[in-house]
Amino acid sequence: MYVNEKTAILADFHCHTLASLHAYSTLRENIEAAKRKNLCLLGVTDHGIGTADSPPLSYFDNLLSLPETVDGIRLLRGVEANIMDHEGRLDMPAALLQRMDFVIASYHDSCTVPGTVADHTRSYLALARNPDVDLIGHSGTAAFQYDFERVIPVFGQYGKVVEINAHTFICRQKSIENCMEIARLCARYSVPVLVNSDAHSEFEVGVVEKALDMLREIHFPEALIINTDADRIRQYLSKLQSQH
Ligand SMILES: [Zn+2]
Ligand SMILES: [Zn+2]
Repeated sequence: MYVNEKTAILADFHCHTLASLHAYSTLRENIEAAKRKNLCLLGVTDHGIGTADSPPLSYFDNLLSLPETVDGIRLLRGVEANIMDHEGRLDMPAALLQRMDFVIASYHDSCTVPGTVADHTRSYLALARNPDVDLIGHSGTAAFQYDFERVIPVFGQYGKVVEINAHTFICRQKSIENCMEIARLCARYSVPVLVNSDAHSEFEVGVVEKALDMLREIHFPEALIINTDADRIRQYLSKLQSQH
């Protein structure tokens, strides 16, 4: 079955709170938004320490003091770690990443100067092999172009999930073509994806329609989307638990 009008996400694995200073809502506000959207899970994934307006290391060190579940919403206490160079190095200590529920790795030009396609390809190939990373965040970002054809099957081989990021359709429009190509390759190589909002306020939590529209347009197989099915989410959570 392909993505269709009825396809909807049940969990949003990538959201920011006020702890990232360019985001606008509290954790409680995000939880209330998740409840309104009938989500069962919310990623608490603020930016790693490499960006100027991210929380300090102590924030992440203390993150597991948050409850695992609030009002029936499972909280994934994680981070959107920054890829700091073109060797796939992250801005967070590995020991801390291992303790967290969930780790996204993303490039942002606010903390890393873009290199060449060969640089980003090398970096993503290293990240594919990094056992601390669960999700490759918005890798369609135009400034950090890589060899999709070469890297996407390697993500699959090492159990990495690839993100289809709805925020891209709002703030990284130059990257939309790349997102389509990445999704097509995920379908070809059967690499699972998560469709996330990357919300920077409560008003965006669970809002992924534009990303789902794109997946519908390219006839993406629904079974490859982890967060549109309760069983797939459950299985993925136990995989995360066994890795962290
Ligand atoms: Zn990001
Ligand atoms: Zn983000």
